[in-house]
Amino acid sequence: MTSVPALAATVDRVALADPLFISDLHLSATHPRTLARFERLLASEARAHAELVILGDLFEYWAGDDATDDDVGNAVIAALRAVAQAGVRVFVMHGNRDLLLGEDFAAAAGATLLADPTLAAIGGETVLLAHGDIYCTRDVAYQRFRAQARNADFQRAFLAKPLAERRAFIGQVRAKSEEVKQATAAEIMDVTPEAIVDAMRAAGVTRMIHGHTHRPATHGFVLDGRSAERWVLPDWNLDAEPPRGGYLTCRSTWQMTRW
Ligand code: MN
Repeated sequence: MTSVPALAATVDRVALADPLFISDLHLSATHPRTLARFERLLASEARAHAELVILGDLFEYWAGDDATDDDVGNAVIAALRAVAQAGVRVFVMHGNRDLLLGEDFAAAAGATLLADPTLAAIGGETVLLAHGDIYCTRDVAYQRFRAQARNADFQRAFLAKPLAERRAFIGQVRAKSEEVKQATAAEIMDVTPEAIVDAMRAAGVTRMIHGHTHRPATHGFVLDGRSAERWVLPDWNLDAEPPRGGYLTCRSTWQMTRW
């Protein structure tokens, strides 16, 4: 039986020694330079780290682990497997675009799927990791879609459809989502500050890392009398002018590298 991605992400606690975080690469055949930069990152910078942690939307879309004719998917799997074989632990969280990544993908890539959110122990600190879309609570229509798309029965039924039918459906959803994005106020598509505070308080953390919003930043604030920090990862598009992307590391200090 095909594994159900919503259930496949079972790891929600992880210890990280020297992570490199990326998210929102939105890899697809229409973005060859972005794919090439990802492959270069995995062949170079990532190998200097103990862990590569991908916080969602690695792919622009994922029709299912049985889409083995997908050149981009195969290139990414090969690159991840190579870095994993070089000794880097690879973790992949689902985004809203690639939430159908399942156990077959993870096994082929040498990766571990992370639940959204996940608690990470990093250098004696607990850090909340998330894709970020769950905190966009002002976008009620999106949250309704998100709940459906992450429902195990829905995913099981969807993955039982022929691949061509799934691809056609995903094409429609992507076109619709572009329309909605154009028509929705920017602040509605950003995270809700109260939702962030609630999540961090519930998790008992003062640091959080997420992507999704494509608004890379470090937000410092006070949470229940303690200083807190929220890091928002940059999205990648090396096929745009100017090209953009980057990653977050934490050695002596937390550091965002952007290009
Ligand atoms: Mn996203």
